[in-house]
Amino acid sequence: PVLDELLARLVADVPDFPQPGVLFKDITPLLADHDGFTQVVDALAAPGRDETGATAVTKVLGMESRGFILGAPVALALGVGFVPVRKAGKLPRETFAVSYALEYGEATLEVHRDAVAPGERVLLVDDVLATGGTLEATRQLVSRCGGVVAGVSVLMELAALGGRAAVSGVEITSLLTV
Ligand code: IMP
Repeated sequence: PVLDELLARLVADVPDFPQPGVLFKDITPLLADHDGFTQVVDALAAPGRDETGATAVTKVLGMESRGFILGAPVALALGVGFVPVRKAGKLPRETFAVSYALEYGEATLEVHRDAVAPGERVLLVDDVLATGGTLEATRQLVSRCGGVVAGVSVLMELAALGGRAAVSGVEITSLLTV
């Protein structure tokens, strides 16, 4: 209830951005509010803990670029390291790459090959789950490294786009469904 009120107040609806017909969810007012940001980070970290509250993952992965802003403090809250999942061509060392279809065209995400060790249990963090393409590609990257996706935390799920069904076999926790 406290979190619902915060999200309702601090996530702004911006019509027709970045193009006509799109209702953009702007989280920058939430990030600018210390209490709101703190509570959201705590809630996003919860799926990385077991029932006793102990940390149950060894890495947090955040997807470029709002997944960086949210995922890095979640990693610190859980007491584990952070791994950036980046768009093609940004990471300097050997990577795994997975391409996926967008509404128009294709996107590629990459992770450093040694960023997740075989057997590691990781938590994925992003701001918005829309079609699920980004999450599914990231799940495949973790799998290529030999890691296991222990959980997924997103701030917001755009339920009408059916993203949950596009990501196979992982538990997704969303703080807000729109
Ligand atoms: P998906 O791959 O279709 O699930 O889209 C999720 C990715 O696109 C996330 O990394 C989001 O940051 C971004 N995204 C998609 N739709 C929106 C939106 O309405 N607002 C903000 N970000 C969005």
